[in-house]
Amino acid sequence: MNPESIREALRQVRYPGFSRDIISFGLVKDVICDPGLTTVRIEVQTRDPQIPEKIFQDCHAILDSLPDIGSVKVEISVKDAPAAAGLAGTVGKSSIPGVKRIIAVASGKGGVGKSTIASNLAVALAASGANVGLCDCDLYGPSMAQMFGVNERPHANEQDEIIPLEAHGIKLMSMSFLLEDRSPVIVRGPMATRYTQQFLRQVAWGNLDYLILDLPPGTGDIQLTIVQTVSVDGVIIVTTPQEVALIDARKAVSMFAKVNVPILGIVENMAWFECDAGKKYFIFGEGGGVREAEILNVPLLGRIPIDMATRQRGDAGTPTALLTSSENNVAAAFHQLAAQTKAAVPLA
Ligand code: ADP
Repeated sequence: MNPESIREALRQVRYPGFSRDIISFGLVKDVICDPGLTTVRIEVQTRDPQIPEKIFQDCHAILDSLPDIGSVKVEISVKDAPAAAGLAGTVGKSSIPGVKRIIAVASGKGGVGKSTIASNLAVALAASGANVGLCDCDLYGPSMAQMFGVNERPHANEQDEIIPLEAHGIKLMSMSFLLEDRSPVIVRGPMATRYTQQFLRQVAWGNLDYLILDLPPGTGDIQLTIVQTVSVDGVIIVTTPQEVALIDARKAVSMFAKVNVPILGIVENMAWFECDAGKKYFIFGEGGGVREAEILNVPLLGRIPIDMATRQRGDAGTPTALLTSSENNVAAAFHQLAAQTKAAVPLA
């Protein structure tokens, strides 16, 4: 028995509730093989006491059955997961130096307007006087270059960190800035996870009040890795009001809850369309996001209508939230969302 073979065996132990194993999550910190005794040291970040318990049992089940292993000692140290803002012990917590608060924007499925919400939220927070960064973490479908009208390649500083680009007063980083061409990225699984981790850690963000992470759509390993790589203060789930979107939004809420990332709330996007005469049409059904927030017992942070100009401004690199609340109704909804977000994740 040697540490490598023990690690290999531990690849069979999944993180409870997920398809990935504890080795690829980097939870196994040390394996020591003394004659007659194997010690495995594991570190878990969670508030759920069942998770270390389950990992403990599963590790023993695998290791105890190995031939010639002798005694097995599994030591698990449990660190507190990031808690909701305002709870004791969380103030000032951040795993990216200089960044006060990290907020993830997620969705159960693609096309519901997650990137539109993330970029307008970032712009609206900046308009309220905050220092804001926005990171497009979607390896497979990055859209921020388009939404902010930037398309340069960023430079590196002397420490080999990537210097984010800037547009509309916001620091921006996107996987797409680093791609040579527009061909789709075809890395998968652990590679994608590693790229994303490296990417998150190697950006020179400087001092920020809020860093918004535009997560890839869905509820897979990448989303999980991201919220476990950086200390996320909370996640906003974007959904459209129809049932097919709500089903996936529910999955997202449950996934983040499982790993103890506080759910800041739901944003109902494309909530209605208002015609020139002022009549509202609930194209995807009325109030799906509102009801879902009630059922899931999470706040409803905002309702954004379908708005042709918002789509056009998104494509043109000038997010609607650059307008003031008095100039534009949809901008007002984004400024309201920013105010709600600030209240949910105060700076101090
Ligand atoms: P996702 O990030 O969820 O895939 P996007 O933000 O890229 O979604 O939005 C998909 C498309 O829908 C984009 O063309 C965007 O401009 C448009 N869109 C998003 N939200 C709205 C809205 N409230 N009104 C009009 N168009 C919208």
